Amino acid sequence: MTFQEIKAHDQAHIMNTYGRSDACIVTGKGALCKDTEGKEYIDFTSGIGVNSLGFCDEDWVKAVSAQASTLQHISNLYYTLPDVELADTLCARTGYAKVFFGNSGAEANEGAIKVARKYSFDTYGAGRDKIVTLVNSFHGRTVTTLAATGQDVFHTFFFPFTEGFVYAKAGSMEDLKAACDGSVCALMLEFIQGEGGVVPLDPEYVKEAAAFCKENDILLIADEVQTGIGRTGTLLASEQFGVFPDITTLAKGLGGGLPIGAVMVSEKLSNVMGASSHGSTFGGNPVVCAGANTVLKKLDDTMLKSVLEKGETIRAALSGCKNVASITGLGMMIGIELKEGTSAEVRAACMEKGLLVLTAKAKVRLLPPLTISDEELEKGLEILKIVLDA
Ligand SMILES: *Cc1c(COP(=O)(O)O)cnc(C)c1O
Repeated sequence: MTFQEIKAHDQAHIMNTYGRSDACIVTGKGALCKDTEGKEYIDFTSGIGVNSLGFCDEDWVKAVSAQASTLQHISNLYYTLPDVELADTLCARTGYAKVFFGNSGAEANEGAIKVARKYSFDTYGAGRDKIVTLVNSFHGRTVTTLAATGQDVFHTFFFPFTEGFVYAKAGSMEDLKAACDGSVCALMLEFIQGEGGVVPLDPEYVKEAAAFCKENDILLIADEVQTGIGRTGTLLASEQFGVFPDITTLAKGLGGGLPIGAVMVSEKLSNVMGASSHGSTFGGNPVVCAGANTVLKKLDDTMLKSVLEKGETIRAALSGCKNVASITGLGMMIGIELKEGTSAEVRAACMEKGLLVLTAKAKVRLLPPLTISDEELEKGLEILKIVLDA
């Protein structure tokens, strides 16, 4: 099929839910990929923060292929090895007590919401079930996680949404306290609002909110679907905000390109979910977990440090550009506020010149593979500098 044919077939038979860019990507290696026309792109997207080790990392491919030819799936009614190894590693490296594995960020957040509500039900009885989320947050596309998402544009068409979500202004303790009227069981937040435009929370607010939650036995749920797994230069972004949430959710970067979500809970919550209170047919899939185990193995202190350094390199390279108003984010999760033009125009101009970038609302968003080489990074930054200086 030619590119035009592929595009026509996609539009004819795949629900048109995505605003796709004009390229069909067929191969990738490291931070480079190629489309059907043989055009090469430097990748500053990692999917959307998914390919943490870049395209087709050798060790990841080996682990995934080996597992696929050993045991690709067995139901969760039996024990398997790769998910046990992954849970052990996650708990050892984060301090959480237990993990539940699902297949996506939204599913992880659904799991977190269920844990929070059940903990409150078991402890206080019915009626203390509301969850506070922040204005401009993004928590997923299921009916419940859309309701959790603190943006009105997501609250259309699909009525009725799941009840029990209230929204507080990010950064306002006053708003948070006003929302917590005794019927609230949890506060859910992203340390850096990703889809909302790479907007970091004020660390002082995070600490105060965490302390307030602790005093009132309101569970703190951190949605680290985008910020987790080294993206910000620490395994979890919570480390840099100096808090230990009761629940942390992960997804995007964890599998290195295969679908996985995880709900991690602290000791206090480790027995909230019992037999048959939750489940997922594909959750903890051996092939996916083998990939995730490779991601965590490679994501050692040296790599985390390099994420901080590369983040600094990006900031230094772009901060002087004519069209850059400000740069937000942490590590290799970067938002670029423009002085003029739209983020979509910048994305298109970059693509034309062989660089893939993302947008988040009015900002250009960069989520390069954590393993990107200095050379690939330089090459990509050269393109971005030309576009942002034009
Ligand atoms: C992407 C994202 C989600 C949704 O993840 P899916 O895997 O698409 O369901 C949830 N929360 C945050 C913070 C995200 O960035």
